[in-house]
Amino acid sequence: MRVRAYRFRAYCSNTTARVLETQLEVACKLYNALLHAEQEEYEKNKRTMSKNELRQLALDLRKQNPEFQVLHSQVAQQVAERFYQARERFLGGLANKPKKKKPHRYLSLVYPQSGWKLSNWRDAGQGKNKKRKARLRLSKIGFFTLVMHTELPLKRVSQVCVKLYPSGRIHVIFLVEEPEAEEEQSSKESKNAVGVDLGITRLATLSDGRYLENPKPLERSLDRVRMLQRTLSRKRFLSNNWLKTKTKLAKEHEHLKDFRRDLFFKLGALLAQEYDVLVLEDLDVRNLVQKGETKKRRMRLYDSSFSELRAVLEWEFRKRGKLVLPVPAYNTSRECFLCGGINQSLTLEDRVFLCPHCGFTFDRDLNASLVLLKRAGWVPPAVPVELHPIPPLPTLGLVGRQGGAMIQEAPAFRRG
Ligand SMILES: [Zn+2]
Repeated sequence: MRVRAYRFRAYCSNTTARVLETQLEVACKLYNALLHAEQEEYEKNKRTMSKNELRQLALDLRKQNPEFQVLHSQVAQQVAERFYQARERFLGGLANKPKKKKPHRYLSLVYPQSGWKLSNWRDAGQGKNKKRKARLRLSKIGFFTLVMHTELPLKRVSQVCVKLYPSGRIHVIFLVEEPEAEEEQSSKESKNAVGVDLGITRLATLSDGRYLENPKPLERSLDRVRMLQRTLSRKRFLSNNWLKTKTKLAKEHEHLKDFRRDLFFKLGALLAQEYDVLVLEDLDVRNLVQKGETKKRRMRLYDSSFSELRAVLEWEFRKRGKLVLPVPAYNTSRECFLCGGINQSLTLEDRVFLCPHCGFTFDRDLNASLVLLKRAGWVPPAVPVELHPIPPLPTLGLVGRQGGAMIQEAPAFRRG
C-alpha cells in the first residue's frame, strides 16, 4: 500500500478564514508549549517523552487552558504527533532540532478519522466553467466549498489536512491509502523507451529528437520578485504592512510553482501516453546546485526544478504501471552515442557535440539523451543518419502570465 495525496482548492467565508487563522495560531502555541515541556522534561530527567505521553500532554494542556479548547481534540493530538515526528527526524539525524515555530509559518491542521464530513456533491457552472463541487465541514472551524477536479476514493481516506498558503489560498488535502500499480511484465524489446536529458537551455530533450524549451519562469519575473523582497525587508517584522507584502510575494512564488507544475504534468502525460519506459539520469540535484559555478547558473538550476520535474515524470509513468529506469549520470553529455568515445574538452557552453574519435557531430542534449537510452540497455532504433522528420506536435496548452512553452523539433543531425 502506498499513501497518495488528493489536493483540492477550497473556498470559505471571511469568518471561517479568520477562525482558521486563529486556530492555526493556537495550534502553533500548543506546538511551542509541547516543545517547552519536552525540553524541561529532558533537563530534569534526561529522557524524551514517548508519542503517547506527548498526545496525552496535548490533551491535558487543552483541558487546562481554555484557549486551546478552540481546537478539536483530535487536531490537538495531531499537533503532538507533528512535534513527535519532527523530534524523531532530529534524533534520526535527518533534520535539525525542532525549533519554536513562528505563527506565520504554522499553516496546516490535520484531522484524522473524525471531525470532518463531506456532503452536498453538486455540479456547478456551465460549459467550460462546469465544476463539481462539494461541501466540507471541519468540526470547530466551519464550512468549505471544495472544487472536486478529480474522483476521490472517499472510503479509503485516512487523514484530512487543511492548509492555508502564505498567499491566502486554502487547499484541503486528503490522504488515501492505495494499492501500488503493478508494473507490466513483458520483454524489453516489445517496449517503447524514451531517454530524457534535462538541461538549462532546453528543459528536456527527448531521444526521439523533440525538445522542450526552458521557460525560466523565475528569471522572467525576477524584477518583480526582487522589488517585493526589497519592500519586505523595509517593513517591521510581523507588522500589518509586512504581512501584506509577504502575501504579495507569496502569490508571485506560488504562481511560479503552479506554472512549473502545470508544464511538468503536461510533459509527463504526453510522454507516458507515447512510451512504456522512461530513462532518466540519476542526478544528485542538490549537489548540482551547490556546485553551480556562477550565481546565475545556480539560480537557473533552481528555477528549472529538476527534482520536481523528475518526480512528476516518474509519477506519470508509475501511475500507469510503466517503468522508470534511472541510469548513472557520469559523463552522459561527454560520451559519444555512436562509438562510446569521450570528448573531454566539451564545456558547458558548447551546444554541439563533436566526437574526436569518429567525427560525428550531434546536438549536445540529443546526444546525451541517446547515451542515456544506450546505458539503460536499449539500442535506439533511430540511428541519427536515418532519423525521420517528426510531425509537429500540438502546443502544450499552457498560457501563463509569462506566455506559453512548447515542444519543438530539435535541429536535424549533421554528419561531420
Ligand atoms: Zn564517436
